[in-house]
Amino acid sequence: MSELEPASAPAYVQVALNLPLRREFTYALPAGSTVRPGNRVRVNFHGRALGGVVTAVTTTSELPPNKIKSIESVLDDELLLPPSLLELARRMAATYGCSLGEALDAMLPAVAKRRGQRQLPHVELKAPYDLAKQAVLELEEKHQEQSRVLRTVLEFGGPMPIGDLKRRTGTSDSPWQTLCKNGVLKKVMIAEELEELVPAAEEAAVRHALNPHQQQAVDAVATRVAAREHRTFLLHGVTGSGKTEVYLRILEAVRATGRSAIVLVPEISLTPQTVGRFASRFPDTAVLHSGLTDAERGRQWQRLLQGKARIAIGARSALFAPVQDLGLIVVDEEHESSFKQDSTPRYHAREMAIVRGELERAVVVLGSATPTLESIGKARRGIYELLTLPQRAGAGRLPKIVVQDLRNEPKEARRSGVVLSRTLLVMMEERLKARDQVLLFLNRRGFAPVLLCPGCGEAIKCDACSVSMTWHARQSRLVCHWCCHEKRRPEICPVCQHAGMHELGVGTERLEQAVKERFPDAITARMDADTMAERGAHERVLGSFRKKHIDVLIGTQMIAKGLDFPDVTLVGVVSADTGLFVPDYRAAERTFQLLQQVAGRAGRGEKAGTVVIQTFCPDNYAVQAAAKSDYESFVQQELVFRKVTGYPPFARLLRVLAEARQESEAQQLLLAAVKPLRELKDVEVLGPAPAVIARVKEQWRWHMLVKCFTQASFAAAMAAIGTVEDLATRSCRVTLDVDPSSLM
Ligand code: ADP
Ligand code: ZN
Repeated sequence: MSELEPASAPAYVQVALNLPLRREFTYALPAGSTVRPGNRVRVNFHGRALGGVVTAVTTTSELPPNKIKSIESVLDDELLLPPSLLELARRMAATYGCSLGEALDAMLPAVAKRRGQRQLPHVELKAPYDLAKQAVLELEEKHQEQSRVLRTVLEFGGPMPIGDLKRRTGTSDSPWQTLCKNGVLKKVMIAEELEELVPAAEEAAVRHALNPHQQQAVDAVATRVAAREHRTFLLHGVTGSGKTEVYLRILEAVRATGRSAIVLVPEISLTPQTVGRFASRFPDTAVLHSGLTDAERGRQWQRLLQGKARIAIGARSALFAPVQDLGLIVVDEEHESSFKQDSTPRYHAREMAIVRGELERAVVVLGSATPTLESIGKARRGIYELLTLPQRAGAGRLPKIVVQDLRNEPKEARRSGVVLSRTLLVMMEERLKARDQVLLFLNRRGFAPVLLCPGCGEAIKCDACSVSMTWHARQSRLVCHWCCHEKRRPEICPVCQHAGMHELGVGTERLEQAVKERFPDAITARMDADTMAERGAHERVLGSFRKKHIDVLIGTQMIAKGLDFPDVTLVGVVSADTGLFVPDYRAAERTFQLLQQVAGRAGRGEKAGTVVIQTFCPDNYAVQAAAKSDYESFVQQELVFRKVTGYPPFARLLRVLAEARQESEAQQLLLAAVKPLRELKDVEVLGPAPAVIARVKEQWRWHMLVKCFTQASFAAAMAAIGTVEDLATRSCRVTLDVDPSSLM
């Protein structure tokens, strides 16, 4: 279009909608309104009012004018999505097989999507507290979901956002609505709070003199930043080697050029401690993470958009922070599987960070003590530049690691269920006497993972899923960890009527009980999804632990990452085996990574640290390599295994999951879908077969795993599978997962 044409020329816009439809829709722009690509508009789509994103503005359209509806309104005055983010969304849609609208939707914070609406629906207690408590019990029998919802509101102890409530209880709208109808709860609209995530005050800004390895790493990255070149670095540094200090110095270099940066950390390590280390050095830091209310997140988004904040730190979705003039993206703990989103769009933030870096000519730094095989492979092939920090920085030394073979424990100790080996008990006693602190790690919450009938050997299973239910003793109920469904503990076995069920296995709750019995004078605390449900609980426990009001901290993976407490001199891994037998080709890799991360929590200060790894498989190579902190030997052995079995990094994976109420329907759908795939070169298909968890929420699950051995065959496989909306039927849901992080 020439610049001389009148501005009033009829204009059309292409709009991407958050629907699984792989196309954009044409709408007319009313005279007088102006929009740019990246603006949000409201449109009428088959009678529904939907928000969408403008992806293009044109003066002509091939459609007959009488077929084109006008947009209803323009939603934002300012541009929420700069062109680079629009392009990133296009790349994301192409890579992960979702629609452009779905990709764009994932980028915008919720508050931007409902502009102007500053009120958030909550529910709060209407009935008197005692009556409500009574109602929890009464409803338990016949209206379990209502009971669960009500109990959760009571535990929360104040008006609770409805979205959070549904997420936590795994329920739909109907239970809370019924409770409102019956006068137990009431819905209230509450203006969203505008508080900020305040970093811990004690995170003083110590600026260490760099050691030579750190200096080298900083220099290498800073050179590229100064040259405004895109480059991806892999910073491989053992735990405590000062990676964070390196990030901080690189950030200084970026800020010195006036550019902005994004720092991605796993959700779990986004603590005030972590935030504090960045925010204390850079006051123009904005924090983005899922623990914030929508309003808080929206405010941070605004600060970035307006250039008032220049550094965004957050979990996965902070990748989409609308920073001005991006110079650097840091992905800390690049091996973490939480960087992969497990709902549509199923993107991997690390991979998309590299794409964004390319698009905006920014440097990307991936950091880890245990890089994934994919990343270390790319570094060795020169696709990434490798930077290494082989030693702990400062005073800390790598801990001494003891592998404790549980097969040698006396039978009585094993029979009691809780296995704290003699070695670990003796050390705990010693450390507690010295007023040091102990971490006990067990990646399983609840009291016992299985409630088993000793008569017939049957475990109590969820009615809706094909998994056994976990016994939670404190709340005195069985819980399905897949769908949140709950049951009372049966007095007699529902299958064979045998009296008395047996609690099999150990969860964090049982472990805590055992520690309390054994060390009655020690103060213990537990960190897992059950104890951390309340807002702020995380910070509270970590704060007490820091002040040494807690002697023994017991927890799941929540305590495995990032914690830096100088007085922790003993770390016990209660069972190294929980993840080893998971049917996933990454079982060994994840075990190795987890053991290294947990071990990294010991001996971070002046005092030496010891780690005890308890296992029934002391000869397993992942356990062995972790015990010697020998990343290289692990990688060598694991690569051999991957090569032989044809898994990443030697193949790219695609998983197709079909879910239906009728098992045969899911099966048939995949049997049809697999046919064109079988014709392809350099492609191998495993399945279709029932998924490991064959049924969830009353849906039968079948899946197939497509291994693609070349980039070309990957593209061919994506094309052969087609789109999810074409595959799915009214009664069978289909999920396409590129580079899946879960195979269950
Ligand atoms: P990582 O992120 O690699 O686990 P951190 O950045 O948390 O390591 O550093 C570990 C500890 O070492 C921290 O307490 C940090 O303050 C300290 N540290 C980092 N760099 C140095 C240095 N050059 N000299 C002294 N101490 C350092
Ligand atoms: Zn279930």
